Amino acid sequence: MTAVAVLEEVLASIENELQAVEMQIQELVDKQQELIQKKMRVKNLIKQSSGDLDAGGSKDMETSAEAWNKKDFPWYEKIKTALQGKFKLQKFRSLQLETVNAAMAGKDIFLVMPTGGGKSLCYQLPAVCSEDYKSLGILKRQFPNAPLIGLTATATNHVLKDAQKILHVQKCITFTASFNRPNLYYEVRHKPSNNEDFIEDIVKIINGRYKGLSGIVYCFSQKDSEQVTVSLQKLGIKAGTYHANMDAKYKTKVHKGWAANQIQVVVATVAFGMGIDKPDVRFVIHHSMSKSMENYYQESGRAGRDDQKADCILYYGFGDIFRISSMVVMENVGQEKLYDMVSYCQNMSKCRRVLIAHHFDEVWDSANCNRMCDNCCRESSCEKMDVTGYCRDLIKILEQAENMSEKLTPLKLIDAWSGKGVSKFRVAEVTPPKHPREELERVIAHLLLQQYLKEDFSFTAFATISYLKIGPKAHLLKNEAHVITIEGITNKKNVYKDKASQSSNSKGSRENAQNISKTVQDSVVKKAQEHKRPNCGSNLKAKKLKLQAGGDDQPVVLD
Ligand code: ADP
Ligand code: MG
Ligand code: ZN
Repeated sequence: MTAVAVLEEVLASIENELQAVEMQIQELVDKQQELIQKKMRVKNLIKQSSGDLDAGGSKDMETSAEAWNKKDFPWYEKIKTALQGKFKLQKFRSLQLETVNAAMAGKDIFLVMPTGGGKSLCYQLPAVCSEDYKSLGILKRQFPNAPLIGLTATATNHVLKDAQKILHVQKCITFTASFNRPNLYYEVRHKPSNNEDFIEDIVKIINGRYKGLSGIVYCFSQKDSEQVTVSLQKLGIKAGTYHANMDAKYKTKVHKGWAANQIQVVVATVAFGMGIDKPDVRFVIHHSMSKSMENYYQESGRAGRDDQKADCILYYGFGDIFRISSMVVMENVGQEKLYDMVSYCQNMSKCRRVLIAHHFDEVWDSANCNRMCDNCCRESSCEKMDVTGYCRDLIKILEQAENMSEKLTPLKLIDAWSGKGVSKFRVAEVTPPKHPREELERVIAHLLLQQYLKEDFSFTAFATISYLKIGPKAHLLKNEAHVITIEGITNKKNVYKDKASQSSNSKGSRENAQNISKTVQDSVVKKAQEHKRPNCGSNLKAKKLKLQAGGDDQPVVLD
């Protein structure tokens, strides 16, 4: 062996060791994140319990929500009468009383409350109670004593500060409501690859528990929304299309028909959003996932504004990842946001509410989800399944294609992996896995999110095409000890929506989960790791907001 060869061997071994260290660091960083979150939660709980003891202590009383949650203000009878008489509402919702009280006391307020939370009442009610209050809407500078209320569903602290400056508000009270919507049932289903099966699945939902009741089906494209409308109509459902590229007259007709319950379902693109406040929307079905969690929250949030139970069902399809990805490719953090959405869809163990709360930086409290999500209803434990071998196989296929100067679309990659499609893309030493296609898709999506694979875009005059390539983390596999795992479901006993819906179909998801169980049984399960179901709660305490400004609500509404 030459000296150089020896040194090269040493170098390779050092590189391997370095990679192992990198992996360990990553594990420690994950652990650190987990502990920091736990710490925050516990601190918050301590703060809450001690806060009960020394209420009225040294805290800035005026700006705390508790200080305004009182019925002993002189105007209480007046506002209560107006609430029940004029607005025909029984009681205040969370933070409404606080906001109305503070407004009546002439304070400037910023209220951050999710769509459908009931912001309107917060400025309308004080307006009918107090003559002075009617001067609202004119700038603070001209009427320094008139209270000002800023209402928004989507605002970062930064946006709030800016708005304060623009409006010439010195000091203001900020109330932030939780993003939790306790009456919404969240579910992710596998999107059937066969269009007829898919439509049938949707029809079963619409004709099931929600027969004759209002709903929305959100689609990825205008074309999708038109096609789905026709398919639903053929099966006897009163459906109407709504998208941006439609005649204004027709759009109004659909919106009005739906509001009047003559049209049961609006099949729409995201263009159907502004000004929709139909209270009795019983289901929002996503025919394709949204392009971000913020979008998903807003769109699904149009269900159940009347506080009655409603379903938010998202159909997760592998192909949609790449359709949407090609669409958001030019957006700044478009892919990052989409991948957050994908990871929400891929998750089969954590409470959906925990995932949503986490996304909006809410601090999770110990209250309950009340089994109002699919993952909380899943009476099964998650096991980690080893997919390292699969990842190595996929990389071999991609390497070979690269050597032939060929690019593989996700579809071609799965074909080559399963021993189908163009033969030149197959690799002899790769044994096609024995799993249903949807599980192979799940594995690839996982490897994409974990960066063992990456997307690579090609732009033509007509379209943007997404190809799959070897990702930045793939080199970690040079280390023989490196293990990649994915969560699966072991127990077949799945209780889907036991109480939530009896008649509506949950066949798709159940089958999906059973297939996954099979996967886990079939494959070599490295470590049977029991995951306790997270303690999902409805009482989220908002702490910080991480939201893009300007959802369907304007950042600042002044009345
Ligand atoms: P936002 O502007 O925050 O999106 P809205 O003010 O439009 O929400 O209110 C959403 C729905 O909730 C409306 O149908 C409204 O009538 C209803 N709502 C508001 N406050 C209450 C309450 N205290 N009790 C019951 N329903 C309410
Ligand atoms: Mg509103
Ligand atoms: Zn849950």
